[in-house]
Amino acid sequence: MKCRVCCKDTIIMEKIARCEYEQFSLRNSPFKSQNKELILHKCESCSHVQAENVLTDDFYDFYSESEGESQYFGHSDFLDNKFIKLQKYLLNNKKMFEIGCGAGGMLKRAEKHFDYCLGIEPSRTTYNISKNKNLNVINSYFSKNLDIGTGYSAFASFRVFEHLCDLYAVLDRAYEILIPGGGGIINVPNGQIITEQSLYHQVVCQHVNYFTPPSLCIMAANSGFEVLEIESFDSMNELDLYIRKPAVRVGFDAALRRDKRKLQSIISSYKNISVWGAGAKARYYSSLLDDSNPIIHFLDSAANKEGLYVSGINIPVEKVTQSAISESDAVIIFASAYNREIIKTLREEYRFKGKIVYFDGQEIREED
Ligand SMILES: [Zn+2]
Repeated sequence: MKCRVCCKDTIIMEKIARCEYEQFSLRNSPFKSQNKELILHKCESCSHVQAENVLTDDFYDFYSESEGESQYFGHSDFLDNKFIKLQKYLLNNKKMFEIGCGAGGMLKRAEKHFDYCLGIEPSRTTYNISKNKNLNVINSYFSKNLDIGTGYSAFASFRVFEHLCDLYAVLDRAYEILIPGGGGIINVPNGQIITEQSLYHQVVCQHVNYFTPPSLCIMAANSGFEVLEIESFDSMNELDLYIRKPAVRVGFDAALRRDKRKLQSIISSYKNISVWGAGAKARYYSSLLDDSNPIIHFLDSAANKEGLYVSGINIPVEKVTQSAISESDAVIIFASAYNREIIKTLREEYRFKGKIVYFDGQEIREED
């Protein structure tokens, strides 16, 4: 059997005589659930562990999430943190899709973090549950044939990839749909712990993949994603992988020209502009200004910089005073590490009512 992740030959790891075939369920009378023989294969190249698919073709059509999200009961913040963590890597938080949203527990949470959320769920049973929660869902497998539009900056997939026989049909499609700089989280059981510790209660016929940290990362890289972070939750036997479609790199000089255009469009109508912050970034940011917007005050709260010059700025540093602030109709903050503190000081201590412009990562932001 070829490895689903890296396509190399696998070796037989173990033959399990009686592997649980059915979904976990409680019934009204005594019963024994169905078992099947299952052979686990291990890839010695990427460490992936996998089983052949022994499920019927319609197995997932009416699959119900008996365990699904209920296993996370009482871990509410823990689940929201996954989206918060993902967002710190993304270009924006506008559109996300979830591959295999099940009964919609995570999609509901995603709605708090993204403007638009779409779930794709193959099982009619759990699709209906999501639909009844007023979630935006499609009853379908996630594949090339499914058109969900474009412009997505994020995707999520919780407890899905361990079920997939064709990993790249799904992951490559996710890559195609994402905008450059968009990313995703893939959550799977930790196959490394399951196999190393022989956790027999974590082996079911539905799980055809037991991802290890390396095999999960290799899969993502093979689809063209950058691996950003991998997190293991040992108490849950889970791995979270954060990945991103590479952004188109702007280049340093182009970024400087872009910032100059943005800054000029914001400040062009202001006559009395001051700058706050004579730190190391000031010599770079000063090149975004030109003769059409001379600065009237160059402020810094450090007394030992008073009277000194910074490369590229023709007036000396002065201490922050009420009169300097009052004479300004716009203040540009060059000390971007202290944006929040300086904005608060300007508004509260100096009652500044004018325009504040500041640098926030790749963005230049303004507020009135
Ligand atoms: Zn492999």
